[in-house]
Amino acid sequence: MRQSETHRRGRARFRAIIGSHLHAAKKHLALAGGCLVGVTLMQLMAPWPLKLILDYILLQKPAPPSLAFLSELYHTWPLTVLAVLATFIAIIAIVSGALSYAQSFVTSKIGHQLVFTLRQHLFAHVQGLSLSFHTQTRSGELLTKLASDTQTLKNAFTDIPLAVSGHIVTFLGMFVIMFAINWELSLIILATMPILVSGLFLLNRKILTTTRAQREQESRIASQLAESLSSISVIQTFGRERIEQDRFKQESTNHLRTGLQTARTTAAVTRVVSIIGAISTATTVFFGAWQVLKARMTPGDLLVFVSYMKNLYSPIKDLSKLSTQFSKATVSADRIADLLGIEPEIHDRPDAIKATHLRGEIRFEQVSFAYLEGCPVLHDLSFQIAPGQRIAIIGPSGSGKSTLVSLLLRLYQPSKGLITLDDRDLAEYERESLRHEIGVVLQDTLLFRASIADNISYGADHAGLDQIMDAAREANAHEFISKLPGGYDTVIAERGSTLSGGQRQRICLARALVKQPSILVLDEPTASLDHQSAAYVREAIARIQANRTTIVITHHLVGMELFDQIFLLDDGRLVEQGTHQELLDRHALYAHLCAQQSNDLTRLRSNTLT
Ligand code: ADP
Repeated sequence: MRQSETHRRGRARFRAIIGSHLHAAKKHLALAGGCLVGVTLMQLMAPWPLKLILDYILLQKPAPPSLAFLSELYHTWPLTVLAVLATFIAIIAIVSGALSYAQSFVTSKIGHQLVFTLRQHLFAHVQGLSLSFHTQTRSGELLTKLASDTQTLKNAFTDIPLAVSGHIVTFLGMFVIMFAINWELSLIILATMPILVSGLFLLNRKILTTTRAQREQESRIASQLAESLSSISVIQTFGRERIEQDRFKQESTNHLRTGLQTARTTAAVTRVVSIIGAISTATTVFFGAWQVLKARMTPGDLLVFVSYMKNLYSPIKDLSKLSTQFSKATVSADRIADLLGIEPEIHDRPDAIKATHLRGEIRFEQVSFAYLEGCPVLHDLSFQIAPGQRIAIIGPSGSGKSTLVSLLLRLYQPSKGLITLDDRDLAEYERESLRHEIGVVLQDTLLFRASIADNISYGADHAGLDQIMDAAREANAHEFISKLPGGYDTVIAERGSTLSGGQRQRICLARALVKQPSILVLDEPTASLDHQSAAYVREAIARIQANRTTIVITHHLVGMELFDQIFLLDDGRLVEQGTHQELLDRHALYAHLCAQQSNDLTRLRSNTLT
C-alpha cells in the first residue's frame, strides 16, 4: 500500500519533470515534427519519378490527362525530361537526408537536455533524502538510476515518439496511395497485418519481461562493483579476491543469460517480420504482375507498390527494436519514479530560521531513537551542555554515542523527546545552516583527491588562505603541511592515502575548524591512530579555544581531566555524568578503565623507547 503510494507520487513527479521539459522544448519539438512530415513526404514521393520514366517514357503508356503534358514534352525534349526526372530522384534523396539529419539532431538535443534535467532533479532529490535511506540503499543501485536509467530514457524519448509517429504517418500515406492505385492488391497486403501484429505482440511481451530482469541485474552488478571497489583494501587484506570474483561472475552470468534471451527474442522478431515481408512481397509481385498483364495497372504502379512494400516492412522491423527500447524505458522510468516518490524523512520547516552565531547550548529532553522500528538504540536521554563546555562521551561500542551526534546534526529525527540548541527546537533551524554551525570530525577521515587547501576549505568555500592556515594551526597541522614540497597546494591522493592517519585526522580537524563553528564534534578522533599521532591530535583538541562547545566521543580515557563533563553511555542510556574526578570517585569501573589505559600507555611508551 505504502509502496504503491510512493510509486504514484514518484510517477506524478516524474511526469511533472518530463512535462515541464517538453513544454520548454516545444519549439524544438515542432521543428522535429515538421522535419518528420517532410521526410515522410519524401519517402512517399521517392518511387514516383521512376514510375513516370518507366510508364510514360520507356513503355510509352498513354498518360492520364493530368500528365498529358509529359508525353508532349518527351517528344520534344526526351533527354531533358529524363534528366529532370532523374534529378528529382537525387533531389528527393538529398532533401530527405537533410531533413532526417535536422530531425535527428533536434531530437537528440531534446533527449540530451532531458537527461540533464532529470539527472539534476534526481541528484538533488537523492541528496535531500535522509541518511536512513542512504544506509539502507546500495550506492551502486543509485548510480545505475542516475547514470544509465536516465540515459535509457533519453534514447526512448528521442527515438520512440518520433519514429513511431513517423512510421504511422508513412504507413497511412502509403496505404492511401496504394488504395488509390489498386485496392485489391492493397487488401491482400493489409490481410497479412493482423498475423504480423499478433505475433509481434506476443514476442514483445517476452521482451518486456527479459528486459526488466536485465535492468535489475545491471543495477545489482553496479552495486556489487561499487561495494567491492570501495572496500578493495579489505578484500585484498583478507585474500577474498577469488570469492568476490565468483560473486561477480554469478551476477554477470545471470545477466549474460537474460541478455542472450532478449537478443534471441529480438532477433526472432526481426526474422519473423522479414519472412512475412518476403512472403507478402512475393504475393504482391505475383498478383501485381497478373494485374499488369490484365492491364488493370501499369508496370510503374507495380514498381511503386513493391517499393512501398519495402518501406512498409522496415518500419515494422524497426518497431520491434523500438519496443525493446520501450520496454527498457518503462523499466527505467518505473525505477526513477520509485526513487522520486521517496519522501525525505527530514524537511526544513517553511518558517525555518538560519542558525548563526550560536552560543552552543545543547539540551536533550527524554530523547529516544530507533533506526529500525521496534529496535530502540537510545532510551530517554536527558542532559544539558552549557555554552563553551567540553564534553566527552564514553561508553562501550554500540552504546549509541555516534547516534547521539547524528541526532544533534539532524541527520535523523528522534522517535521521542526534544533536542534544543540555544533554547530552540533543533527542527526550527534550517538544516544547512545548522550543519554549518557544527564542525564534525569523523573517525573515518574522508579526504578528496584535491589540494590540502581545498580539502580544508571544503564546506567553507569562501575561506581564504589565511583562514585555512589559521585553522590548520589550530588543528596542529600547519607545521607538517608547510614541510610538504607543495605546501598547502600538495594534492592528496584518493582517500588521503599519501598521508599518515594522524595527518589526515588533523586536516579533517582543520576542515571542521575553518567554518568557525559554534559547536565542534569529534567522533573517536584518535581511535585508529598510534599513540604519537593520537598525542598530536589530542594536543590540538586541547588547544581549541574554550569559547566553543566541544563534544568528543572517545574510547581512550586519556587526558580526561580536560573535559568539563563526561557522559558515560551504556546500551543507549546515560548511566553516569560528571567531571573526571567525580566519575573516578563514583564509578569504580571508570576508575578501573582509566587506570588500565594509563598503565597500557606507559608500558607502550617504555617499549617504544627501549
Ligand atoms: P557507538 O557510536 O556507541 O559505537 P552507534 O551509535 O554507532 O554506537 O550505534 C548504536 C547502535 O545502533 C548499535 O547497535 C548499531 O548497531 C546501531 N546502528 C548504528 N547505525 C545504524 C544504522 N544506520 N542502521 C541501523 N542500526 C544502526
